[in-house]
Amino acid sequence: MADQLPKLSGDQAKKLQAEHQRTLSDLQGLREYLATGIGRVAEGSADSVDVAADIYEREKTLSIIQTLEEKLAAIERALQATEKGVYGICEVCGQPIGPGRLEAMPHTRTCIKCQARLERLTPSRFSASSSLGDEDS
Ligand SMILES: [Zn+2]
Repeated sequence: MADQLPKLSGDQAKKLQAEHQRTLSDLQGLREYLATGIGRVAEGSADSVDVAADIYEREKTLSIIQTLEEKLAAIERALQATEKGVYGICEVCGQPIGPGRLEAMPHTRTCIKCQARLERLTPSRFSASSSLGDEDS
């Protein structure tokens, strides 16, 4: 193994896997919550205030689920990157991502500079770290 990526270790992969597991179980919990919430409304006993609150709650939960799904996809990509030996390399500029950033966001695929630039370009789409799109080359 070349030592150009000293940061990439078994620990890093383990951390990603743990993060993957945690995100999966969060997702599962939210989906179950969503399913029971929908069931409650569908039973038809709730009055309109409850229904409105449920709908609001459901939309909120859905958006969290979406965020988590994006995160999960990003983690899976990061795991693939660890297998290819390119984990921790910015997908945009090819420079190593700072250890602090990887520590805080193990699933990130861009360095902080590129992330900032992407956020400036499309403020709404790139608010999460996982939104570099599907530019599989
Ligand atoms: Zn970069």
